[in-house]
Amino acid sequence: MLLQDERKLIVEYGKRMSQEKLSPGTSGNLSIYNEEKKLMAITPSGINYMDLRPEDVVITDLEANIVDGSRKPSSEWALHSVFYRDKPEARAVVHSHSMYCTVLAALNLPVKAVHYVIGDAGAAEVPCVPYHTFGTVKLAEESIKYCGNGKAVLLGNHGQIVCGSDLKSAYGLACNLEFLAEVQYKAMCLGNPVILNDEQMKEVMEKFKTYGQANH
Ligand code: 13P
Ligand code: ZN
Repeated sequence: MLLQDERKLIVEYGKRMSQEKLSPGTSGNLSIYNEEKKLMAITPSGINYMDLRPEDVVITDLEANIVDGSRKPSSEWALHSVFYRDKPEARAVVHSHSMYCTVLAALNLPVKAVHYVIGDAGAAEVPCVPYHTFGTVKLAEESIKYCGNGKAVLLGNHGQIVCGSDLKSAYGLACNLEFLAEVQYKAMCLGNPVILNDEQMKEVMEKFKTYGQANH
């Protein structure tokens, strides 16, 4: 089996996504890009994450040609591919129908700087792409356009998609984005949230460069 390590990680994070209720049922999908081999390991379409085994993960090139695996790849393979094509630093993509991101996406609203952790998304605002049918090249193309220089975007009337330098950081960003959307929604229920300004966000981005432990 090709890309065994990537397959195992996809299974591990798929189960986490289900157990932590980041995405209901078989919704959402995960991938890891092996830049050396120019191949992606992606979740199969429509299989419950709790039933997922490493052999169910599909190995494809960025045009969805299957190189290893007997399952059909996620219907959103094009959405994952555009991130790897457009962002040289992207090595993992997480798409989910997380509740509060989907609530904002139902209103076609962006996630704003209601909390400093938005800096994790590499931008002071996470835009929302207008609705396009799931699993289409149009959705993929529009999403990467709206994403700009950031790492995340909301999908109108659908959910959220993020990328990261590995699956751990992409999954962490997906959770942070869901936290931000929940804060924004709840703050909007009580009044007009105060949005951090460009100067405040610039300072946050700077501090993020040295946040946490070095070499870990
Ligand atoms: P797949 O099961 O094909 O990955 O589709 C789930 C999804 O979220 C489509 O947008
Ligand atoms: Zn979806």
